[in-house]
Amino acid sequence: MSVNGLPPYDPQNIFARILRGEIPCKRVHEDEFALAFHDINPLSPTHALVIPKGAYVSAADFHAGASDAEIAGFWRAVGQVATSLGLEASGYRLLANMGEDAGQEVPHFHVHICGGRRLGRMLSPG
Ligand code: AMP
Repeated sequence: MSVNGLPPYDPQNIFARILRGEIPCKRVHEDEFALAFHDINPLSPTHALVIPKGAYVSAADFHAGASDAEIAGFWRAVGQVATSLGLEASGYRLLANMGEDAGQEVPHFHVHICGGRRLGRMLSPG
């Protein structure tokens, strides 16, 4: 299923290049459906990114186009990574930026896992 209004997937985006092994990453988890690695510019003491292995620009693209197995596998990986990073007891935030208003820098769907300190308000007021 296609999703209207999305840019086409750019296979040269940096996360696609990480998935192909063209650029290194500090990997924390990898399985059939997902790759997780530390953010190169962490905004919290623990800041990891989880990306699906498939070529999806956004959450809408991913959930419309991915198989049930891909979707389940991806979200299972998100939970496993948060646990393996030791964040369950203290808490953490999942965050995903989509498109211009959210300031998405890398056009490959990804979820940030941030924790390790009090993270403050979810958003600054407009
Ligand atoms: P977003 O603004 O949600 O698209 O976030 C993209 C994130 O990717 C930012 O937090 C960047 O610091 C991070 N990032 C960009 N390039 C790399 C890289 N080569 N390795 C790890 N993280 C990266």
